[in-house]
Amino acid sequence: MSPARQGTAAGPNKVCRDPAPGGRWRGAATARAMKVLIVEDELKVGQFIERALTEQSHTAHLVGSCAEARDALADSAYEAVILDLGLPDGDGLDLLREWRGAGFNEPVLILSARDAVNDRIRGLNHGADDYLAKPFSLEELLARIRALLRRQGGAKSTQLTHGDIRMDLLARSVTAAGQPVELTNREFALLELFLQNRGRVLTRTMIAERIWEASYEMETNLIDVYVRRLRKKLGATEERPLIRTLRGTGYQLT
Ligand code: CA
Repeated sequence: MSPARQGTAAGPNKVCRDPAPGGRWRGAATARAMKVLIVEDELKVGQFIERALTEQSHTAHLVGSCAEARDALADSAYEAVILDLGLPDGDGLDLLREWRGAGFNEPVLILSARDAVNDRIRGLNHGADDYLAKPFSLEELLARIRALLRRQGGAKSTQLTHGDIRMDLLARSVTAAGQPVELTNREFALLELFLQNRGRVLTRTMIAERIWEASYEMETNLIDVYVRRLRKKLGATEERPLIRTLRGTGYQLT
């Protein structure tokens, strides 16, 4: 199959670059660089999409199997997934069900050659946010992704809570048990990441990538320091550590 009906090259997109350290975590619904996972075993199609997203200043990561997709999502946080269904080691629908069951809430667009109405319905019932049949137009794919991200951004609450912790993303304020808590930009970003991923295990790599935009070994000690500081500022105790350390894996908000 030909990769896709050729769309014209997408025009330059306005992308808000991070204005300052921690600035990307303001939770605003503005267009900004996104990290997108492409699960596609047809290399040509995958690379075609990857290139288009990269040209629009997004970060795209291409994988070609269910196993690689699982690893990618376990290692890193993505803001959207483009998912093929017919994969060499399984069905994309099973992957999707798995992810939704594990609490992965980011938008997923199914891109598949299966284009019967029933296939579309099944995909949406399994937790997909959109469904595009192959062959597809690149312009349409990009427009749909943008729409998904916009909806996602708009739907995101500006208030995050967990137990007695309240975070206001617009006011950039945090309270614990009703008392204001002063956080630095990085601490704020880290707490927001935990609150956005309640119950999910965040690996050190994932945290380093999202908060420090790096994944160097040296950064990992830094994460421990920041987590300890957060616990202290938020009044965590030994009985209620708030952020659980999972040896050799990462952290989990409890
Ligand atoms: Ca395929």
